[in-house]
Amino acid sequence: MKITNIRTQTLKAPLKNPFITSLRRVDALEDLVVIIECDDGSLGYGEGAPTPVITGETMGSMIACIEYISPHLIGREIEDFDTILALLHSLILKNTTAKSALEIALYDLKAKASKVPLFRLLGGSRTIFSTDITISMGEIDKMICDSQNAVNLGYNTLKIKIGDSPQKDVERVLAIHQSLDKHIKLRLDANQGWSAKESVDLLLALEKQNVIAEFIEQPVAADDYEGLKYIKERVQTPLLADESIFSVKDAQRLLEMQAIDYVNIKLAKTAGISQALKLADLSKEFGVKCMIGCMLEGPISVAAGVHVASAKADIITMLDLDAVSLLASHPVKTDIDFNESKIVLSDSPGLGVSISSKYTKS
Ligand SMILES: [Mg+2]
Repeated sequence: MKITNIRTQTLKAPLKNPFITSLRRVDALEDLVVIIECDDGSLGYGEGAPTPVITGETMGSMIACIEYISPHLIGREIEDFDTILALLHSLILKNTTAKSALEIALYDLKAKASKVPLFRLLGGSRTIFSTDITISMGEIDKMICDSQNAVNLGYNTLKIKIGDSPQKDVERVLAIHQSLDKHIKLRLDANQGWSAKESVDLLLALEKQNVIAEFIEQPVAADDYEGLKYIKERVQTPLLADESIFSVKDAQRLLEMQAIDYVNIKLAKTAGISQALKLADLSKEFGVKCMIGCMLEGPISVAAGVHVASAKADIITMLDLDAVSLLASHPVKTDIDFNESKIVLSDSPGLGVSISSKYTKS
């Protein structure tokens, strides 16, 4: 199975509601689909959403990166998979989302060549998962309303976006907590919005009110590793690192520092599936569980995340793969059942996704 062509296509999809965090506001998804063609007619699909405030990539930089790498991959056999991956990662530093999109398409082809779903190729067997849903940051009444609507749709875990004002954040979390049944779990994501001291004050204030979230995600700046450790030593609420961990090396340092309780794996940060698997393995060595998350991105790359969750189901115990449910519509045909909080993998070979001919014509 020889690679004959690599193409990109932007994918636009409307959101049901604006997506608002302390770092950004998004009104419609625009991400990049990669299609790798092979000489036997097989197509491999990959995808990634440029998230400049997190990975430093734009749509233009992603396209340029893929165009830079592609000539080195064309003509190679998918059977030489390890060589292809090593080449992909050695050609250019950073550009993690662009490389992830390419990797996802390569893994799709590798699984298709073996005629198995990707999760089975990666050693997984679990097919049914539950994800949380993101509640965008905003006024308290709106956040309560969105939370209640999510619970009515069947979600029992909510990821609350906060981080623009510590005082307001305490009020938001307390109000949301009080408005919901006690079995609903809250995950808090401050997207680097607080200092270490503010984080401790805020979390202790919540804990004093008996509000202990499932975790607090990335309260401080991505490079503030000491800040994370400072917080972990002073609060009961478990601490999850997101923007602080892109690579296995980042995780190694934070885990050796004993600065975090959980790792958030995202393919757009790890530069794809291969390093995500290694990150899960490293976390396991330290006895630290992982969540798999996504950017605001489309069904192809979210599907890849679900396959990885299955492959490492013993260590990836939490899913934050709600991006598909946030879309009002999209052009991807998927055999994976994305039904609000419930995600079910199918036995289709590869990722189990395809795109209408509009996207697949050369
Ligand atoms: Mg996050």
